[in-house]
Amino acid sequence: MTGPATLFIDGQWVPAADGGTRDIHCPADGTLVATVSEATADDTVRAIGAARRAFDAGEWSSRPAAERGDLLIAVADQLTERADAFARAESLDTGKRFVESQIDMADIAACFRYFGKLAAQDAGRLVDAGSPDVLSRIRYEPVGVCGLISPWNYPLLQAAWKIAPALAAGNTFVLKPSELTPHTAIMIIELLTEVGVPAGVANLVLGAGPVAGAPLSEHEDVDLVSFTGGLATGKIIAASAAATVKKVALELGGKNPNVIFADADFDAAVDNALNAAFVHSGQVCSAGARLVVEESIHDRFVDELVRRAEQIRLGGPFDEAAETGPLISTAHRDKVTGYVEQAVADGAVLRCGGRWGEGDLAVGSYYLPTVLDGVRRGSAAVTDEAFGPVVTVETFGSEDEAVEIANDTRYGLAGAVWSSDAGRCQRVAQRLRHGTIWINDFHPYLPQAEWGGFGQSGIGRELGPTGLDEYREAKHIYHNL
Ligand code: NAD
Repeated sequence: MTGPATLFIDGQWVPAADGGTRDIHCPADGTLVATVSEATADDTVRAIGAARRAFDAGEWSSRPAAERGDLLIAVADQLTERADAFARAESLDTGKRFVESQIDMADIAACFRYFGKLAAQDAGRLVDAGSPDVLSRIRYEPVGVCGLISPWNYPLLQAAWKIAPALAAGNTFVLKPSELTPHTAIMIIELLTEVGVPAGVANLVLGAGPVAGAPLSEHEDVDLVSFTGGLATGKIIAASAAATVKKVALELGGKNPNVIFADADFDAAVDNALNAAFVHSGQVCSAGARLVVEESIHDRFVDELVRRAEQIRLGGPFDEAAETGPLISTAHRDKVTGYVEQAVADGAVLRCGGRWGEGDLAVGSYYLPTVLDGVRRGSAAVTDEAFGPVVTVETFGSEDEAVEIANDTRYGLAGAVWSSDAGRCQRVAQRLRHGTIWINDFHPYLPQAEWGGFGQSGIGRELGPTGLDEYREAKHIYHNL
């Protein structure tokens, strides 16, 4: 039995051992994009074996860090050159607007470039042992074999945040992207091979999480598992990784507050709140899904938000007039539908949306931008991630109350504060228990700045110097001279 050779194990493109396949459909119109291999758990175990052998051989990890860095910079250059081909593949898998995928590709190239340069700077660290007879130093070494598991909303971006630091630090890896969005993972592995990453260092398995992904948290030959995805899956992975005391990095969900004070620039705040909540149809871990608005401007703010939300044009990835796209699947659309129905049953006021796309949009998994006002504190609408184009509205009367509401979540990924009072912005930003705080903005991030969550939004950080440290062991060498 053979299927398409889209798994990459030990430097070879191979089909799944049992010939299993999966059809990939574009969520914008349901068309078949391609058929790829569906790995079995045994395929993943073989990939882990290849990564283990490549790591133990030491050829990759013992290269000068600057040489590994040069290779990552070559990846960045090629990604820039081929950005449109990558963006097209990403848009077909996700339904995301092509222009958004193009932005993602620029960010991905920047990520490879950043870690490429950071790798080159690694010289370890000297420690003052307090004696002229002792030379004490810290040497940074790779963790070993990394299992990298990524989601479907930013398929290559989330994978790149793991691949680039893992390689920069000298690790080998097995990547398992979301089963729904495999194409840019295939393309990046081709590119890594092309620029000279040795066989066995970068491996790829495609398929369902509980089958193809599970060995990456279970197997004793994996030293680190880095996962981006939902909270429920993160708990399963952390529990399973505990059996072999792997290092675990988790980037999970968010329920991110967007706090608007009455003295904020009204038009900019409304404009930005729409983008925060509805870009990529809200399928963003850091989406501004909870508006926390000062009472005195509530009516005016929500009226304008609703008026503008009703005008947002939905469409497929290559529809240039579209402002946002479909949800990833009809199954996900059903989940978002259930979330909104529950919110309304709990007393929320549906101000707009709450419906599937109609007419031309009925063929894809579209859901209209939705505003839920009057949500109750503690209700599922404000505690659970909808991961769709849905924004809830809560109000506050004082700065203290704004902070209390914004921090009233088990998550802690990101949040924003809008005010023309710089002192208040800084005060509130410091009191918010979230990994990224935007002031008078929403969504920008930098490869050189750490990204990650407080609370149940995760463990560890991606990007920035800490993002490289996740993939390194610090070894202390104490030399009695
Ligand atoms: P998911 O948890 O369903 O799946 C994520 C990945 O895990 C997929 O590759 C999936 O196949 C795999 N998986 C599932 N079960 C597994 C198992 N038992 N063992 C190993 N792998 C398994 O998440 P999703 O629906 O793909 O992504 C959406 C979620 O990701 C949202 O909750 C979102 O907030 C989160 N997310 C977080 C960040 C962040 O930076 N914190 C970024 C993007 C997405």
